[in-house]
Amino acid sequence: MHLCEMRSLVSGMRMVLAAGVIMMSSSVVAAESSDTGFGPGNPFYAPSALPFQAPPFDRIKDGDYQPAIEAGMAEQRKEIRAIADNPAAPTFENTIVAMEKTGALFQRAYAAFNAVTGANTNPALEKVQQEEAPKLAAHSDAIYLDAKLFRRVAAVYEKRESLKLSPEGLRLVEFYYQRFVHAGANLSDADKEKLKKINEEESTLSNGFRSKVLAATKDAAYFTADKSALAGLTDAEIGGAERAAKQRKKEGWVLALQNTTQQPYLSSLSMRATRQALFEDSWTRAERGDANDTRETIARLAQLRAEKGKLLGFDSYAGWKLEDQMAKTPENALKFMDALVPAATANAASEAKDIQGVIDTQNNGSQNNGSQNGGSQNGGFAVEPWDWEFYSEQVRKAKFDLDEAEVRPYFEMNNVLQHGVFYAANQLYGLTFKERKDIPVWHADVRVYEVMEADGKPLALWYCDYFKRDNKNGGAWMGSLVRQSKLLGTLPVVYNVANLPKPAEGEPALISFSDVITMFHEFGHALHGMFAATEYPVLSGTAVARDFVEFPSQFNEHWATYPAIFHHYAKHYKTGAPMPVELAAKIKKAEDFNQGYKLTELLAAAQLDMQWHSLPVDAPLQKPDEFEKAALEKKGFTLSYVPPRYRSSYFSHIWGGGYAAGYYAYLWAEMLDDDAFQWFQDHGGLTRANGDRLRAMVLSRGNTEDLEKMYEAWLGSAPNIEPMLKYRGLAKTAPK
Ligand SMILES: [Zn+2]
Repeated sequence: MHLCEMRSLVSGMRMVLAAGVIMMSSSVVAAESSDTGFGPGNPFYAPSALPFQAPPFDRIKDGDYQPAIEAGMAEQRKEIRAIADNPAAPTFENTIVAMEKTGALFQRAYAAFNAVTGANTNPALEKVQQEEAPKLAAHSDAIYLDAKLFRRVAAVYEKRESLKLSPEGLRLVEFYYQRFVHAGANLSDADKEKLKKINEEESTLSNGFRSKVLAATKDAAYFTADKSALAGLTDAEIGGAERAAKQRKKEGWVLALQNTTQQPYLSSLSMRATRQALFEDSWTRAERGDANDTRETIARLAQLRAEKGKLLGFDSYAGWKLEDQMAKTPENALKFMDALVPAATANAASEAKDIQGVIDTQNNGSQNNGSQNGGSQNGGFAVEPWDWEFYSEQVRKAKFDLDEAEVRPYFEMNNVLQHGVFYAANQLYGLTFKERKDIPVWHADVRVYEVMEADGKPLALWYCDYFKRDNKNGGAWMGSLVRQSKLLGTLPVVYNVANLPKPAEGEPALISFSDVITMFHEFGHALHGMFAATEYPVLSGTAVARDFVEFPSQFNEHWATYPAIFHHYAKHYKTGAPMPVELAAKIKKAEDFNQGYKLTELLAAAQLDMQWHSLPVDAPLQKPDEFEKAALEKKGFTLSYVPPRYRSSYFSHIWGGGYAAGYYAYLWAEMLDDDAFQWFQDHGGLTRANGDRLRAMVLSRGNTEDLEKMYEAWLGSAPNIEPMLKYRGLAKTAPK
C-alpha cells in the first residue's frame, strides 16, 4: 500500500462539509461586490469557457483568488438565505436540490486555489490562506448551523419515504440531514456559538500548522559543506544536492526532507554520522524551539477538538468523527488495529535480527563499509532508526540480491505513465488518453490529458504535477478542479500531484519502484473521480467516507505488479529491453521484505492519531513529547528502532489535513483493496468485464449508497481481512 492525502480533504475539514453545497451551476450569475474589488475583470467571474470548464490558469493572478473566494462565499450565503426564507413549503426540489445548485463561484475559485496552494504556493498565497481559514470555517457554519434551513431539511427528511424519490435522491436527503446533525444543527443557540468559535480557532491553528510544517521541512534540510559526508549517493544525487544548495544560496550540499520520518537517502548514505544527522533533522524538524515549532499548536488543537466532541455529544473527538465513517466507532477502529500490532511488531523484530546480523558481520572484520566516521567504532552497534533503511537495503541485496540502482533504468517516468498507468486503465476500462497542450496549467511541469471512453466519448480531464518543488507540500495527492454532476452538467477535471525527483535538464526521469506505486495509487483516486456518474455533486466521485476513499487508490496499486501490466511498462529506457524476469521476480519478492517495519510505523502513527483524538475534555493541555512516548508504549510500540511514520509534531494528515481520528483509514481500506484484488484473481484477473463491473457497481457511484452495502453487493459477501494478512505476509499461508 502507499499513502497519500486526498487534496479535497486536506483543505481542512470545515471545507469538506461545505464542499457539498459549493458545486458549479451555470445558471448562477456571479455577484458583484464593490467592497471586495471583485468584478468582470476577475477570471473567476464567469464559468470558464475552456474545455471541461478547466480553470484559466494562464489568466489567474495571485491577487484574483481572495476577492473571488470572498465574493463566492457572499453569493452562496445569499443563495442559501433564499432557500431558508422560501415561503413555499419545503420540498425535495426547493430545499435539497436547491442547495446542490448554490455556490458556483465559490467552488470554481476555491478548487483552483486549493490546487495552487498545495502544489505551487508562495508567501502571498499563504497569507490569503491564513486570512481565509477562519472565514471558510465560519462560512460552513453559516450554512450547517442555520436553524431555519435545518428545519426545512428536517421536514423533507421526515417525509422522505413518501416522496417516491430515486435511490440516489433518497440517499441525498439522508446525507444532508445527517450532515446537519453531525455539524451541530441540533445544538442550542448558545452551544452553536461556542461551536463556531471552536471551528474558527481550529481552522486557524490547523492552517498555521500547515505553514509551519512546510517551512520547518524546508529549513531542516540536511546540509553539509563536506562532500565526503554524502558517500553512498550516486553522482546524479550528489549533483541534485549541490543544485539544492545553490537554490538556497548555500555553498555545499543540501538533502531536502520528505514529509515522512524516514528519508529516502538513508537507504544509501554509507556514513553513519550522516545518517544520524539526516534522521535527526527529520525527527526534530518541527521541535526546534523556533517560529516553526508546532508543539503548542498541536496541544491546543487536541484540546479544542476534545471540547468539540463533548459539545456534539460524544466522549471524545474521535467518537464524533467516526460517527459517519464505515468503521462507525473508535472502538471498532481500535479493535481492528490492535489485532494487527502483535504480528506487525513480531515481524519487525525478526527483520531487525536480520539487520543486526548484517551490522555485526560488516563490523566484525575487514572493511566496515565506510562507517568509520560514524559512531560505529570497531565493536559494532545496535541498530538505530537511522540505520534501518541502509541495512534493510543491504539485507534486501543480500537476501534478495536486489539493487535499487539496477532497477531504476527500467522505470522511466513517461514510460511508466503511458505503458503502465494508462495501459492498465485501458485494459480494465477501455480508456484512452490524449495529451492537451492547449489547457493552461499552474506550473510548467504540469501536464494535461483528455481521457476518453472506449467509444471515443470524452470522459474527463486529468492533470499531473509529478516533480518535487520546495513550494509544494510533501507527499502525493489527488484533487478535483471540477466535480462531475449530471444535475449541473459537469464532467470531472481532476489532478494528481507527487514529489518525484526532477532530473537534470535533458536527463530521463528514472524513478524508484516505490514512485511507480505512487503513480498507480494516485491514478486510482483519479479514476474514482473521473468515473463519477452521479446526479448530485455532493455524492459524486471521491466524496466518500475517509475509510473508503483509499480503497480505489490502493486497489489500483495492485496492477503495478500484475505480470501482464508490469512487463508492458518495465522496459529499459535506453534499449527498450524488457526487465529480465529474474530481476522482476526479485522486486516482487523484495516487496515482502520490511513489511513488519512498514506496518508497525503505520500502526504507530495511526495509534498516535487515535490517542490524541480520544482525549477527554477534562484532560490537561498535553506536552506532545511526553504524550507521544506514553501513547506508543501503552499500545505496545516498544521497538526503539521503529519510530512512527509521522511524529506528532509534523503529522500533517491529522493536524493540517482531513485525517484527524482517520489515519487508520489507510489500513481499513487496505482490507478492502486486498480483498477486492483477490476477487479479481479468482475471477480471471485483468479483464474488461471485471473492470467494467467494478466501475458500474462501485467506482462510478461515489457516495450514492451506504458504502458497506455497495461494497458487499459488488463482492457478494462482507469484507474479509484474510487477503490483507496474506499480502502483508502476516498470515500462516504464504503470499501468492
Ligand atoms: Zn491515497
